[in-house]
Amino acid sequence: MNCAKNAPLSPKLSLNLGLQLRNTFGIAGIAERAYEITAAEQIPPLMQEITQNQWPWRVLGGGSNVILPPVLSGATLLMNIDGEKVTHEDSESTYLEVGAGVNWHAFVQWTLDQQLPGLENLALIPGTVGAAPIQNIGAYGVEVAQYIDRIIAFDTTSNQFVTLTNAACEFAYRDSIFKRQPGRFIVTQVVFKLPKAWQARLHYADLQAMSANLTTAKDIFAAVCDIRTKKLPNPQVIGNAGSFFQNPLVSNQQYQSLLSTHPNLVSYPDKAGHRKLAAGWLIDQCGLKGHRLGEVGVYEKQALVIVNHGHGTAADILALAKLIQDSVQERFGVTLEIEPNIL
Ligand SMILES: Cc1cc2nc3c(=O)[nH]c(=O)nc-3n(C[C@H](O)[C@H](O)[C@H](O)COP(=O)(O)OP(=O)(O)OC[C@H]3O[C@@H](n4cnc5c(N)ncnc54)[C@H](O)[C@@H]3O)c2cc1C
Repeated sequence: MNCAKNAPLSPKLSLNLGLQLRNTFGIAGIAERAYEITAAEQIPPLMQEITQNQWPWRVLGGGSNVILPPVLSGATLLMNIDGEKVTHEDSESTYLEVGAGVNWHAFVQWTLDQQLPGLENLALIPGTVGAAPIQNIGAYGVEVAQYIDRIIAFDTTSNQFVTLTNAACEFAYRDSIFKRQPGRFIVTQVVFKLPKAWQARLHYADLQAMSANLTTAKDIFAAVCDIRTKKLPNPQVIGNAGSFFQNPLVSNQQYQSLLSTHPNLVSYPDKAGHRKLAAGWLIDQCGLKGHRLGEVGVYEKQALVIVNHGHGTAADILALAKLIQDSVQERFGVTLEIEPNIL
């Protein structure tokens, strides 16, 4: 991939750009003013113009974790900053700086080609590198926060580029400072720290079952790709944004009370005094797997995924989400939080 050394200072502007192919739900949204950001230096003058014109604005990466309205008014920054390089290494780790627009899966594949293991459990997650820290992407027992050294971002409150250490990013389960303060930071580069001492993480049931055959990071990468391809709907075939709800965290007390009435309750250990419930199981128990509401529905093979059968809109998706949330609340007294970002 190329570094964006010779990128023009003014980003390319497209008016009324159709975004159906730039969001994995396949919603037919339009961006009034879409700016293709290929270099960090393009951001300060653009933000000045946005402020002067009082345009609403937002960043769009690969569109795999968003629910788009019919029209995104004002400015939409299409994050396309490219480039990845090893910056330095010490006795324990290798450090990599990667552009926010780089495709996440291609990056994971590239690290393994460079003999830099660590990110293999996060293979095949759609989207961009710059969006990975926003909700602290995670899969198969690994979260990206474990490998982030620091983040370079444009801070729209101070109008300057800042470097946030891992601690400053306040990472938590599907959460970070970027998610809690939406519209403040525009991530331009992510600096990863990959430990040289590699250890396989196979404690998730799907991987554990295959562990005898998983001896290298590339084996795990291939296994994760295989499992995900079988389990999750391909957005190119049917629109979706992956898991639609976060797995709810409940107190041990609430967990014990639920377990007494639902002995098959699916849950995972979490921070002290809490259990994480499997949101998909809760939805399934409400009889909603495969349930269809107009143009959208609950995926027939995995109740945690909402799919767009063709012409679904944000309003359709949110109506189905509310039906699911109300059903789970009524039956289990548990609140489900929506994972994708409603733009
Ligand atoms: C089939 C499928 C499977 C998935 N599996 C997983 C999974 O296993 N684990 C997981 O955690 N997620 C998963 N996801 C969700 C999604 O892939 C991730 O959240 C991903 O990181 C989103 O990247 P994106 O570039 O598409 O972000 P977008 O959807 O474009 O944006 C997401 C949010 O981040 C903001 N944003 C994007 N880029 C930047 C930036 N550079 N600076 C500031 N803000 C920015 C946007 O404004 C928006 O609010 C899945 C999605 C799909 C469709």
